[in-house]
Amino acid sequence: MKPRKLHIKSYGCQMNVYDAQRMVDTLAGEGFVETTNADDADLVILNTCHIREKASEKVYSELGRLRVMKEEAARQGRRIDIAVAGCVAQAEGGEIINRAPVVDVVVGPQSYHHLPQLLARAERDGRALETEFPTEDKFAFLPPPKPDVIRARGISAFVTIQEGCDKFCTFCVVPYTRGAEVSRPVSKIVDDVKRLADHGVREITLIGQNVNAYHGEGPDGRTWPLGTLLHRLAEIPGIVRLRYSTSHPRDIDDALIEAHRDIPAAMPFVHLPVQSGSDRILSAMNRKHTARDYRRAIDRFRSLCQDIAFSSDFIVGFPGESEEDFQATLALVTQIGYAAAYSFKYSPRPGTPAAEMQEMVSADEMDERLARLQELIDSQQSAFNRASIGTTVDVLFERPARNPGQIVGRTAYLQPAHVIATEAIVGQVLPVKIESLERYSLLGELACPVPRLAAAPETMPTTHPSETTMGA
Ligand code: SF4
Repeated sequence: MKPRKLHIKSYGCQMNVYDAQRMVDTLAGEGFVETTNADDADLVILNTCHIREKASEKVYSELGRLRVMKEEAARQGRRIDIAVAGCVAQAEGGEIINRAPVVDVVVGPQSYHHLPQLLARAERDGRALETEFPTEDKFAFLPPPKPDVIRARGISAFVTIQEGCDKFCTFCVVPYTRGAEVSRPVSKIVDDVKRLADHGVREITLIGQNVNAYHGEGPDGRTWPLGTLLHRLAEIPGIVRLRYSTSHPRDIDDALIEAHRDIPAAMPFVHLPVQSGSDRILSAMNRKHTARDYRRAIDRFRSLCQDIAFSSDFIVGFPGESEEDFQATLALVTQIGYAAAYSFKYSPRPGTPAAEMQEMVSADEMDERLARLQELIDSQQSAFNRASIGTTVDVLFERPARNPGQIVGRTAYLQPAHVIATEAIVGQVLPVKIESLERYSLLGELACPVPRLAAAPETMPTTHPSETTMGA
């Protein structure tokens, strides 16, 4: 039978990138192969994100384009199914069905394993919607990726260890769209990581909306925190780097900090969102920590791990934010000194408590504050990157770069690093003497002869999976 073609357009966070891969794996069992060309597809899935501004408007405008495509295909006697997945589907499923007749399937993030049945139901009944939080564990039903698919995705992979959030920050939809915190058992995560390592993966990023709230069942019957899980995963042959994202300051514990001290594979780069430096605003955000708590968490890391660096998320112009509150954010950034950070203007998410707040900061003030914050963050990031020049750093090589003859990899701090070399170094961690900096990329030369190790993956991805942020 001719394979059917599947195109997934994914928005937003790392979890969505991972979910898209799991949807591809699930539908591979139904004879679907992935295509990068939507015009060519028999099934188009919009894997949506509710975090960014005007998320649902973007979905409806994309659906407008898909409607034209679907009508044209129908004139040619070809059926195209359109599905909406992800957090917008979860939050606004019924409305999507009502407003966009072009949509055949709406599926929430906890129900991807039901996609084959939902497609069959849509073919039979015209439409299918599932946005419940099913009682069964979807991970038990999602098929593992095939070896050739793992190799094609490259040497760095995501593994979900935790989903959902119990924190209820007032600006965030995650607790409503992903549900309560659930952690996967250690044995399942170990199986996933072993399978990835067996097929060439060298770096694992453990993901969850609130990943350091991880509390999975261990093989000893006890509840394991993230720090203990990192110890177990570091024992798996082939895994040389472990990362995790996204963490909440309140869930930082000693086991996690000590894991950074004790496990060479635990990378010394932690994404720890703070959102604001003002306690008044942190309280309005229901963050459940103060700026002092956050500084203390950073100090605890730094006292045990001298080489550790941090990135963060900031929201500028949260309702009621005064110039004094904003100054507290600038002071915190100045004091911490970040290697990188993401900053956004506040925009209300329907259904969240903050969306009801009245004291809006004007658009001009938001723009002006965001520019000041980003200037400060950029200067810190540039200084951090410039400090690498002249030093020798370990780089995990990922793929050929766009410039012919160059191979690109990542340092421990996720900085892209380029050297002139052959593809034989892909998948290896090698020392690189850094010679210069070009915008955010480091350029250097190998500081050792190339050891002869495993062959490079047959195909390589074009971006590192950690180039997005999410949650906590
Ligand atoms: S911002 Fe993070 S911690 Fe807060 S509710 Fe959203 S996912 Fe949970």
